[in-house]
Amino acid sequence: TERVGTEPSIFTRILRGEIPSEIVLQTDDVFVIRDIAPQAPIHLLVIPKADEYADVVELAAGDPKLLASMVEVARVAASQAGAADFRLIFNTGVGAGQTVFHVHAHVLATRFGGLAEA
Ligand code: 5GP
Repeated sequence: TERVGTEPSIFTRILRGEIPSEIVLQTDDVFVIRDIAPQAPIHLLVIPKADEYADVVELAAGDPKLLASMVEVARVAASQAGAADFRLIFNTGVGAGQTVFHVHAHVLATRFGGLAEA
């Protein structure tokens, strides 16, 4: 997807501090925030700092090592939030509900023993 000349993504603006959102974890290449509209007790977004790939298909083709880094950061972030097990979701395309075309992974989980939490 050609993105040259477009506005910075909402995630780039968060990374720059232009839109407030706590960065809960970061590496050189990837950062993690809490989703503003959580769909599970734990709902994090794992995002490459560079806005180079619009979706996971482009990322997998263009930089598979960065995709692997996102998965590892998702594991650490879920663990830090209290979940050993988690769902990792990449909405890919408008028809699948993707709204931000700066690739990101949703990490969805419940906390340990968290049946009553929602
Ligand atoms: P998508 O539907 O593109 O896979 O997911 C985009 C996600 O970004 C949505 O779950 C939405 O709630 C989240 N989101 C959109 N704007 C903001 C924001 O300003 N801050 C945070 N923390 N999350 C956002």
